[in-house]
Amino acid sequence: MMKSGTSMTYKTLVVEVPGNVCAGKCCFCCVDRDKIIEPKKIKHLSEFMKIYSPRMNYAKDLGCDTMLISGNIEPMQVEDFIADVLHTNKEKSSFWKIELQTSGYKLKDHLNSIFLDQIHTISLSISSFDFHENERITGFKLDHGVIKDISRNYNLRLSINLTRQVADFIKRNGVDGLFKQCKALGARQIVIRQLDSYEKTKNDSFIMQEREYAEDKLWEIEKVLFNYGKKIGKYRSIDGMSVFIDDDCLNKNNKDRRLILRQDGKLYTSWDNPASLIF
Ligand code: SF4
Repeated sequence: MMKSGTSMTYKTLVVEVPGNVCAGKCCFCCVDRDKIIEPKKIKHLSEFMKIYSPRMNYAKDLGCDTMLISGNIEPMQVEDFIADVLHTNKEKSSFWKIELQTSGYKLKDHLNSIFLDQIHTISLSISSFDFHENERITGFKLDHGVIKDISRNYNLRLSINLTRQVADFIKRNGVDGLFKQCKALGARQIVIRQLDSYEKTKNDSFIMQEREYAEDKLWEIEKVLFNYGKKIGKYRSIDGMSVFIDDDCLNKNNKDRRLILRQDGKLYTSWDNPASLIF
């Protein structure tokens, strides 16, 4: 049901995990740490539910069918918060499609546990297929075993940051080689993310250099998708996997029609504009 007086519909509710100090050290991180809002101090689960559940339900009323757990830090740093979100959802909101965006932090300890039993999709961020190099770039450990385990138990979406290292991988193996590698890891979905920034952090010039370095590889991927991929909505299907190029990963144009339930416990339509508060 749509709330009266609101004509805009939304697709995804992003739930921002609280925190300002990330366990990662991604050299392309575009988070402006001075601008992160204060988390709401919540003492009890009942209080959490009182704040979060009406906003989750409001997002559903506005058309959201997917809940994405994400934030300005690696979400798995705050397991208790994720547990509270999932509990609130089970009791009061019932989103069926729940995605967790992660760089793989602590996943090994939790795969197959009841903790993640409502999660449908794990969107795993990767910056190099060489996992030593991935760790050097991001600070997060990954290995084939964990990724295969994710793919056996969840819908695995590989969210590939188009870094210099990924561009070099494509140079050596072709776009075909990139898709073969994703298939071998068990991906069902692939998102190719062009690096971007809000142009407000110390990493901006690095991000722009990386972006420029990888630009022709983005075109090569686009060409292959256009020539060989069967169109399914915004995705193209290649070898049984759906592939999407995300050239607006910060959702500056809100093309993805997202609502954001931020760490102050309020609902917004934009990450960087406090005036976009709706509830
Ligand atoms: S995991 Fe995300 S928030 Fe943390 S450093 Fe990497 S890009 Fe930044």
